[in-house]
Amino acid sequence: MRNLSSRQAPALARPIHALSALALLLTLAACGGGGSDSAGPASPAPDTACQTTTTAGGTITVGSGVPGDPALPEPSSGFRLNMKPVTHAKYMVVTANPLATKAGCDTLKAGGSAADAAVAVQMVLGLVEPQSSGLGGGAFLLHYNATTNTLQSYDGREMAPAGATEDYLRFISATQQTAPLPNARASGRSIGTPGAVRMLDMLHKDHGKLPWAANFGAGIQLATDGFAISGRLADAIVANRANLLRDPDAVAYFLNADLTVKALGTKLSNPAYAATLTTLANSGADAFYSGAIAADIVAEIQRDAAGPAAPGALTPGATTLADMAGYQAKKREPVCIDYRNTVVCGMGPPSSGGIAVAQTLGILENFYMAGYAPSAIDLYGGKPSIMGVHLVSEAQRLAYADRNAWVADTDFVPLPGNGVSSVIDKGYLRARASLIRLDRSMGTATAGNIANKLPLGSSATEGNGTTHVSIIDAQGNVVVMTTTVESSMGAFRFVRGFLLNNQLTDFSPTPSDANGPIANRVQPLKRPRSSMAPTIVFNRNANGTRGDVLMATGSPGGAAIIQFVAKTVIGVVDWGLDAQQATAMMNFGSANSVTTGLGGEHPNLVVANNGDGDTLVQGLRALGHTVSVGAQSSGVSTIVRVKGTGGSVSLVGGADPRREGLVLGAN
Ligand code: GLU
Repeated sequence: MRNLSSRQAPALARPIHALSALALLLTLAACGGGGSDSAGPASPAPDTACQTTTTAGGTITVGSGVPGDPALPEPSSGFRLNMKPVTHAKYMVVTANPLATKAGCDTLKAGGSAADAAVAVQMVLGLVEPQSSGLGGGAFLLHYNATTNTLQSYDGREMAPAGATEDYLRFISATQQTAPLPNARASGRSIGTPGAVRMLDMLHKDHGKLPWAANFGAGIQLATDGFAISGRLADAIVANRANLLRDPDAVAYFLNADLTVKALGTKLSNPAYAATLTTLANSGADAFYSGAIAADIVAEIQRDAAGPAAPGALTPGATTLADMAGYQAKKREPVCIDYRNTVVCGMGPPSSGGIAVAQTLGILENFYMAGYAPSAIDLYGGKPSIMGVHLVSEAQRLAYADRNAWVADTDFVPLPGNGVSSVIDKGYLRARASLIRLDRSMGTATAGNIANKLPLGSSATEGNGTTHVSIIDAQGNVVVMTTTVESSMGAFRFVRGFLLNNQLTDFSPTPSDANGPIANRVQPLKRPRSSMAPTIVFNRNANGTRGDVLMATGSPGGAAIIQFVAKTVIGVVDWGLDAQQATAMMNFGSANSVTTGLGGEHPNLVVANNGDGDTLVQGLRALGHTVSVGAQSSGVSTIVRVKGTGGSVSLVGGADPRREGLVLGAN
């Protein structure tokens, strides 16, 4: 297949078929199509499962280091060109890192379930992409059991300690009303009780097929043998060096002896992480929440002075061993909405992601979105239309207005009306849709009117250190997991080979404003509001019930996650894009300000002179939008199930060109 290499790459009208043809050629070659003499018994076809088949050179083992290996570290680019959809028949894994994808895929190959693969992937991500997620962070996850047709969502969100007050993030104490040192994020105050390990433990008990310990092998081996620092990790070390200097363990791991950064491609082994994983593999999740590991986490959160490379005071957090021992993952009701001929399901509170995506779609259902598809469809999803972007961003202004006012941890602050059902009610969303004008942006929206709403203030906080994983196993079970340490490298504290989160900065630092208390204020044992939106889209049966799986997706990106996920779902459902095109498509939307963002890293946007020469920018400005063309660092991982004739199903995967991700699977 010819390499399309320019920004003006011609439209590849049928990329799935083009890829299938390549896969077929490779399969034929693997089956002896090269014409060896057939005197002896037929040699078995080489096993190509979990190897990439998308390069012109044939199959390549991820991590082999030969040219074309997607795991070879390369400088991180804003947008990888020429990525094509990947098709497999049996199972598939998409993550933001090739080694993590490989670990997940190998787990499925060994007979593991999607739940097993999720554990294996997380253990590797915590090593190779520590800036985004890990043992010291939290996660949200949706699991679909194809045999029983049941959907569950899991909440592994970090929690405020029992000792947190509503001023925890902004004041050192009631008598010392100054900011925590050196700032809230780098102090112990930002660090929530980690939830990812407990959540994966719960998931594995419910849906694992392999023994728990079997899912730790890849992580332990990579941590022991070492891996090469990738482009994005190298960039993260550079960007966070000044903050990492405060922590002697982080200095020893991420920096050289002379305190310069370890560079792209440097081989990094992490014996402390290997030891932690070995303990968890052998003794289970309890060994994380009590005993020596928990004690080290608590001691780190309570530390009051930085190390010698950057001395200074650190304001301790209030986390105790009792907070660690008491942490519980929770099963929550998924948030589902009918959208055209699909049912879109996401994560409920304490994430705002599921509700905001559902509201966006429920509002847009009142418009003929199929008529506003992108033009010049190419590998990158084409060029979004002016009216398409206008309608989506207006719908999001309305959705974010509700989110900022109402959505928080519902164990502490109830939603208005009857809860989730009221805020995603189709009648309510129709009324909200009527506020959208076709000829003018509304600028900013205010929260809607629903009975029993509390007088609340508003908050819009959030950061950027997160990653998304989509998995479909051989039985058709699905895992979508968005997993995070909050901002890049979390709170910059390195304990036993992993980083601690700064998730509590997702709370509003101020407890109230002129309109009343803020729903997302800090309270003891509360979980900070998130925007994470792991999403499974189902086809809708003729009788209106939830049918089989159509797609699995999700993304990092802080509050913009809602926009990245909505764009991807609309791309597939309304605009017929394949998994890679929808994932790559230009990011656009609004978080309820006068500004509408267009992802300036995208090859189909002309960003020179603030976008003055771009037709999409011009069209939006004419409708009153203030347009930003800043780069948007999404990390969408998507799998779409495509039904062929005769009941065959193929899985088509897309990884985000803005990160280092990879799709792997098997036929
Ligand atoms: N902490 C954010 C949240 O939970 C995610 C940050 C990110 O995506 O980078 O919504």
